[in-house]
Amino acid sequence: MNERRVEAQPPDSESTSYQLTGPETTAAGIPAVVSSMRHTIGLAGPKKALTLLRTLNQKGGVDCMSCAWPDPEKRSVAEFCENGAKAVADEGTLRRAQPENYTVEELSRQSDYWLNQQGRLTRPLILRAGSSRYEPIDWDAALDFIAQKLKSTQPDRNLFYTSGRTSNEAAFLYQLMARRHGTNNLPDCANLCHESSGVGLNSTLGVSKGTVTLYDFYQAQVIVIVGQNPGTNHPRMLSALQRAKKNGAKIVSINPLPEAGLSRFKNPQDYMHPLQFFRPATQMADLHLPVAINGDVALFQWICRRLLEENKQEDAFIEAYTTGFAVFRHAVKNATLEGTGLTEKQVTPLVEWLSQTRRIVFCWAMGLTQHVNAVDNIKAIVNTCLLRGAIGHPGAGVCPVRGHSNVQGDRTMGITTYPKQAFLDRLGQHFKFHPPQKPGLDVVKSIHAMLEGKIENLICLGGNFLSACPDTERTAQALKNAKLTVQISTKLNRSHLVTGEEAVILPCLGRTEEDGNQFVTVEDSMSIVHRSQGKQKPAGPELRSEIAIVCDLASRLLGADWSLYKRNYDQIRSEIEAVVPGFSDFNRRVRHPSGFALPILPRQGIFPTQDGKAHFSPLMTPDLRLPEGHFYMMTIRSHDQFNTTIYGNDDRYRGIHNKRRVVLVNPEDASILRLRTGDQVDLFCEHRRADNFTVVTYPIPPGCMATYFPETNSLVPLEKTAHGSNTPAYKSVVIRLQPRQ
Ligand code: SF4
Repeated sequence: MNERRVEAQPPDSESTSYQLTGPETTAAGIPAVVSSMRHTIGLAGPKKALTLLRTLNQKGGVDCMSCAWPDPEKRSVAEFCENGAKAVADEGTLRRAQPENYTVEELSRQSDYWLNQQGRLTRPLILRAGSSRYEPIDWDAALDFIAQKLKSTQPDRNLFYTSGRTSNEAAFLYQLMARRHGTNNLPDCANLCHESSGVGLNSTLGVSKGTVTLYDFYQAQVIVIVGQNPGTNHPRMLSALQRAKKNGAKIVSINPLPEAGLSRFKNPQDYMHPLQFFRPATQMADLHLPVAINGDVALFQWICRRLLEENKQEDAFIEAYTTGFAVFRHAVKNATLEGTGLTEKQVTPLVEWLSQTRRIVFCWAMGLTQHVNAVDNIKAIVNTCLLRGAIGHPGAGVCPVRGHSNVQGDRTMGITTYPKQAFLDRLGQHFKFHPPQKPGLDVVKSIHAMLEGKIENLICLGGNFLSACPDTERTAQALKNAKLTVQISTKLNRSHLVTGEEAVILPCLGRTEEDGNQFVTVEDSMSIVHRSQGKQKPAGPELRSEIAIVCDLASRLLGADWSLYKRNYDQIRSEIEAVVPGFSDFNRRVRHPSGFALPILPRQGIFPTQDGKAHFSPLMTPDLRLPEGHFYMMTIRSHDQFNTTIYGNDDRYRGIHNKRRVVLVNPEDASILRLRTGDQVDLFCEHRRADNFTVVTYPIPPGCMATYFPETNSLVPLEKTAHGSNTPAYKSVVIRLQPRQ
């Protein structure tokens, strides 16, 4: 076991010079342009910054490696948002990390921001047993070492983790390698984010993906955005919402927090048109419902009850396409708004707007998917959608908005711990082997297995396993129990420091970098498959693509000659075409400048469930009562971060500057607790603690609090996961505060 005394959590001391300026009411605009330029020119220099941004999200260019918002058919010259600019700047940085110059203990005492600022990793490194310092190793030795470790144990004692940045081609080969090796242990970041969406949608509509396209947004008459902060996490969505508003849509935000992006939006594209330069910002949400944390099931149950009382159900649609209506109807008969923190007066406008149209789009993100009852949250949305017949025609449907550029594509490629039998059969038939049938370990099960000493080796294709996971100290212990942890990465992060007994870092090409004139493909939140091709000179001569690394490892692990796949990615796509439905004629179709759409049957009103019907679900409203002095805490992102990558210490839209260890508290709760803005507190969840947080009184419902992750992932219990999807409940952690002495 690894005895190194490394810090699993970022240091709890921060600079005391911070500023609180209160929540912003306008998103983007000049500040976003300035921030984009500051990040790109600051890290990559003016010349490289220009080429990085010029190709971003352009046809034949680079697909942004941040969120999975789709690209419009007509691209603007600057087809990116501030956070897309930060992402390519981060990858295009001219800085080069040299972790071998420090001990891992020293590095672990640095902040996540500092670690990320060290720059690109450019050569393979190994951390040997008993040593605290990484040392260079050549590729062949590193890959031989890893393959030997993997082969030295049973396949089910090995884990193959994937982050949502991985391309379709790399993901397909990675799952093939793991399955030919003999395991379905393919945990991925979807386990931590939209797994609940997949489970909820699959059991009700028969598909695990959204059913809308970008054009449905433009044709919708009501767009309901639940538990999502697009201004920071999917910023180009604001342009689509602005266009929808122009077409007459009503926009409703259901979120404990008032977010700038859903308040007013000054589209930076306006600055490219003299007539629009001074155009005022667009008022976005017509209604903001500050629902209490996890009050969504109760809220949508009540909305459905109201719609039924007004006889606003779509009888013909319900009759023809659904099942379970009667039981559902009975279940909502006595629904109330108790636990939502909302009044009938507040919610009634939404009921009215929903009752007047079938062109309704429901969007959501982590605010719905990271609760113990998360799958029911999704079902509550689907109930409302079916009641209004808002699916299977233009301007209507459901849209889980993915926060990682290819997390949906990876799942389509077979990155899952519970693959469908049909997929395994096609894989086995095509590659002439017997795939493992036993379901694998998802992320939470992987951590438990590592804690129980049942896992020897963990391979991570991208990501930051430690900081993305809950219960940080236990996850750290789990990693330390492993014999070997391997990170295939572009930048330094805490998972390189809290490792197994031995660890290897394999530096890979970024998505913006040339890869021998080859392109990869990704799939966005609306199931559009399109290509991405890097144009930048690689950050170092030793870098290899994700695909090359998987091929080189597979040749050692399986004795397979995958060199053809390395030389020509069309070969990989031909294999995908043979195994994955919807990818016929893949190589020709993906060369279309806009790519192609995968078939999503509910778009045509076809529901591929067992009985061919869309399912209403009778739901229990969760009991949200808390013991005295306890609060629900949700973890959130600042505007200067992408998942666990910290680009800076500001959260401009929430008016928090140069500080991350803050806890947003309702003003009345603060006065009851005799706390004021600026006071220092420690946070507790059962025996877990997170120290030294600054109180910020903020417009959040009573009983609710918010903090940034990964700083408070240490408070999220490993056992507290969503029924049915096993996604950690990062959005409703029961905490108490204690003033610091
Ligand atoms: S909206 Fe998402 S995909 Fe588009 S540029 Fe911004 S971060 Fe990248």
